[in-house]
Amino acid sequence: MALVDRTPPRPSSRRGGAAPGPRLDVERIRRDFPILATQVRGKPLVYLDNAATAQKPRAVIDAISAYYESDNANIHRGVHALSIRATEAYEAARRRIQALINAEAPEQVIFVRGATEGVNLVAQSYGRPRLRPGDEILITEMEHHSNIVPWQLLCEQTGAGLRVAPINDRGELRLDEFERLLSERTKIAAFAHVSNALGTVNPVRELAGLAHRAGAVVLVDGAQATPHQAVDVRQLGCDFYVFSGHKMFGPTGVGVLYGRRELLEALPPYQGGGEMILSVTFEKTVYAALPARLEAGTPHIAGGIGLGAAVAYLSQIGYDAIAAHEAALLEHGTRVLGEIPQVRLIGTAAHKASVLSFVIDGVHAHDAGTVLDQLGIAIRTGHHCAQPVMQHFGVPATCRASLAFYNTTEELDVLAAGVRKVCEVFGV
Ligand code: PMP
Repeated sequence: MALVDRTPPRPSSRRGGAAPGPRLDVERIRRDFPILATQVRGKPLVYLDNAATAQKPRAVIDAISAYYESDNANIHRGVHALSIRATEAYEAARRRIQALINAEAPEQVIFVRGATEGVNLVAQSYGRPRLRPGDEILITEMEHHSNIVPWQLLCEQTGAGLRVAPINDRGELRLDEFERLLSERTKIAAFAHVSNALGTVNPVRELAGLAHRAGAVVLVDGAQATPHQAVDVRQLGCDFYVFSGHKMFGPTGVGVLYGRRELLEALPPYQGGGEMILSVTFEKTVYAALPARLEAGTPHIAGGIGLGAAVAYLSQIGYDAIAAHEAALLEHGTRVLGEIPQVRLIGTAAHKASVLSFVIDGVHAHDAGTVLDQLGIAIRTGHHCAQPVMQHFGVPATCRASLAFYNTTEELDVLAAGVRKVCEVFGV
């Protein structure tokens, strides 16, 4: 039986206005994720911390095991059978990722450790040789620290200035301010596709258009987009796009930097070492072509192969079905949490992905998280590496339930019941 029923949903099966689309066989999908059957503290695990890291389907776990069991060898340099097989599997993963994001060519998919390393690579290899005092980098108030700190480092190194486009009280980017802050001084505009702390989905194409008109190069942090929605880097019109494997059901320690070819080709190597050279003498080293030039050293081979398996799994399900299911989940979660008087949702953008950030009046987020953990519910509490967002909303921390396509409305009911229990425990 297929994971997705592609017959159009009957009107009665459409939950409260959520986008119609192919329906997921969620029970079947859940069986693909061994960890979802886990009991935590004697209760069935309710895993709602997907924005921190997503769980892995059997297909990913098996691909990694199969590599270590049957094909383990270093890649690219070997002439023996295992090395050839490992190389082929790793490069097949690159091609799958290329297809997923609609990159022009596989060599525009650079394997990195994750979104963080992707941003740092662009900051150091693209930004550092180019930026001068007086130049500017434009980011937004909703960025994850990994799309703030690398730019601050770059500013310290080059004398460039950081500008920050503000958000409104729904957690949406102020487009008028973003546009106002762009000028001929802006050399780089870097912003999230989807905010991890708020769930806000940014209008990337529009922002990229504005930034390009000002002459800036555009980097999009897609760490929270690729688990939820189709990404077409050419349609988005970005110059660089970064994301992490572990948030899209693949392994930790591997991610991707996509770049437009002419930009990647102009980048000096980020790191020196093996794999990235054509020839080395003590007088002169000639660098290899893309993607090797930007991938020094032995990569996370099993990670790349595992990410390729995650991409294959996601492609089999399809982002249409994922988006339709998650829209229904988000709507349900917003409603059941919204019915609790002590709960205030943080991040109510009109265009939002699967994140429910909230505070409970009179209860610190960490205390709430600890009580929910006793009930087997895994959420994240804290600043979510987005302290400026917390500052905007005047809170030290939020509780964040972040959803994936394997979550159910029943799990959100368990969360809401858990939050009511938290209120009871703390007498609020
Ligand atoms: N950007 C966003 C929006 C994120 O949510 C995260 C991870 N929380 C990152 C970047 C960094 O990802 P990683 O730690 O996998 O490099």
